[in-house]
Amino acid sequence: MDFELNEEHRMIKETARRIARDVIAPRAKEADQTGEYPHDFFDAFKQAGLLGMAVPESMGGTGNGILPICLAIEEVAKYECGAGLILVLSGLPNKPLVLGGNAAQQQKWLPDVANGVTKSAFCLTEPDHGSDAANLETRAVRDGDDYILNGNKVYISGGTVADWLTVFARTGGPGAKGISAFVVDAHSPGVNIDRTDDKMGVRSVPTAHFSFSDVRVPAENLLGGVEGQGFNTAMLTLNSMRPTVGARGVGLAEGAASYALEWARERKAFGNAVIDFEAIQFMFADMAIQIEAARNLVYKAAWLVDQGKYTREYAHNLSIAKAYATEMANKVAFDALQVLGAQGYMKDHPLERHYRDARQLMIVEGSSQVQRVVISRAMIDRVLVYG
Ligand SMILES: Cc1cc2nc3c(=O)[nH]c(=O)nc-3n(C[C@H](O)[C@H](O)[C@H](O)COP(=O)(O)OP(=O)(O)OC[C@H]3O[C@@H](n4cnc5c(N)ncnc54)[C@H](O)[C@@H]3O)c2cc1C
Repeated sequence: MDFELNEEHRMIKETARRIARDVIAPRAKEADQTGEYPHDFFDAFKQAGLLGMAVPESMGGTGNGILPICLAIEEVAKYECGAGLILVLSGLPNKPLVLGGNAAQQQKWLPDVANGVTKSAFCLTEPDHGSDAANLETRAVRDGDDYILNGNKVYISGGTVADWLTVFARTGGPGAKGISAFVVDAHSPGVNIDRTDDKMGVRSVPTAHFSFSDVRVPAENLLGGVEGQGFNTAMLTLNSMRPTVGARGVGLAEGAASYALEWARERKAFGNAVIDFEAIQFMFADMAIQIEAARNLVYKAAWLVDQGKYTREYAHNLSIAKAYATEMANKVAFDALQVLGAQGYMKDHPLERHYRDARQLMIVEGSSQVQRVVISRAMIDRVLVYG
């Protein structure tokens, strides 16, 4: 067992740290306030070569893996959680091609996203089917050399800036086995963004509501050329990306805790610095305990994914890390804000933003409740055994 980061890991962490301090921190508040996609964050990641880590070298990426992505996300999420989401999106929509695409599809779409030339988005959720994605209703019907796509996808992160979309649609009968995955050109006739959301947090990365009206999708865009594989590909993708959502929580918590600590050193009450009160000191100790536990869970989960261990029998490890780290981020953001008293409640400080951003993490890519379904099922099925 080796808990040390290697040289490559340290370099990626250091690069992300530099971008976080130089590019992201000065613009974090503005990105939240305007709700406009921060192209400067994306460009900084592109220039540093951080966008191809989830794509294997053979498919045009740098192939570093999920642990290095988590390290980079942790650094940037200390200042702005949406910046972490941009790095998550360097994997989430692309992983279905890595897992389920054929060589021609991988070579056509992955090198450009890995190099930051194009952007992609992951379209699973529908108005009536979020957690219950196996019953999604978007339909793709074969018509000669094309499929005709009709339906709606909602809350799609990065949808407003995407060049292409990974869309999960029904080609067969009911349930998971009737679902296929497609690459859809975001600028095809019939692809419309009906609205974007006015969100509580993670406002820097807009979420789009897509409608597909008789969109012609070339049959060669059916992932792997095989119908019925889409749901399995979506679940494996989400499993493999769970550590990255956890890493957003770890980074957010670290950023919130360190900001509050510096403030508590300066603020005086009853003639003392606030940090001198034991009640406050123990809040920081609790933050540290939770951050360390979450970080270890996330790194282990990322390591498992990088070993190829993200199929069903390993899924509970990934769910535990996602659930714990994202709930931890909410608790730490809550306490860090409390340390600042009234100032924490004001937009003069980043803590109310961290608090709002943290809330998203327990909902996306499998809610906390859905993670508990996965974990308890592993226990009931004796996959996760403590006895
Ligand atoms: C900011 C943001 C960005 C997003 N980005 C994307 C994206 O890029 N692509 C994409 O496809 N989707 C995206 N989503 C959608 C997200 O993945 C879904 O919101 C999530 O899967 C939950 O689905 P839902 O909101 O429909 O809730 P529902 O499934 O309707 O669930 C409602 C409540 O019931 C609980 N629940 C549901 N099923 C169970 C169960 N079996 N047992 C116990 N409790 C249950 C849930 O935990 C929740 O509390 C995004 C969402 C947000 C908020």
